Amino acid sequence: TKFEALGLNKALLNAVTDMGFESPSEVQEKAIPILLDSESDLVALAQTGTGKTAAFGFPLIQKLDHNSRTTQGLILSPTRELCLQITSEMQAYSKYVNGLSTVAIYGGASITEQARQIKRGAQIVVATPGRMKDMIGRGLVDISKIDYCVLDEADEMLNMGFYEDIKEILSNTPQDKSTWLFSATMPKEVATIAKKFMHNPIEITV
Ligand code: AMP
Repeated sequence: TKFEALGLNKALLNAVTDMGFESPSEVQEKAIPILLDSESDLVALAQTGTGKTAAFGFPLIQKLDHNSRTTQGLILSPTRELCLQITSEMQAYSKYVNGLSTVAIYGGASITEQARQIKRGAQIVVATPGRMKDMIGRGLVDISKIDYCVLDEADEMLNMGFYEDIKEILSNTPQDKSTWLFSATMPKEVATIAKKFMHNPIEITV
């Protein structure tokens, strides 16, 4: 399939088949080879519904060290609904990857239970900014060793007033991680984030 040409491994290709995806969407076609082949930062202008979750999710799953339980990838998203949706997509995409765990962190639900799930080991954490900041402050999650940070729907997160939370969350991550920013629009606040927290990002538009 055209998914094979993007460089995805067997476990992901099997999941693609199960999901019934026949060919990559435009954002997947553009983003996946870049993210698999380089450690570059990425800014992607893409609307919701374009398949952007798989565009960052497939490379993230393929690049993680599955033999380590350390949290290696953080995905920030604006709402609880999106957070849960991304989490279930990531779990479906990684169903043939042994030992890979994705945990959702969001407000309005038990922090104790979320902390318990994190403690069991989650290579990927999908979080809303407010709860994430809270859990970092309480020492319930450690993102000091992540390799990849995804800012999904960055324009929405900023519209919702999460700039300070995002800034604080990013200050708890390593300098040398890769950052992948996805946004439907590019207002100057998003450009500012890209400028402040990213290094020479490759830009794609769909
Ligand atoms: P997203 O934009 O990531 O929220 O994805 C929108 C929907 O499209 C989700 O239900 C995905 O499961 C689905 N989807 C993602 N990539 C593909 C693809 N290549 N072919 C068909 N459906 C897809």
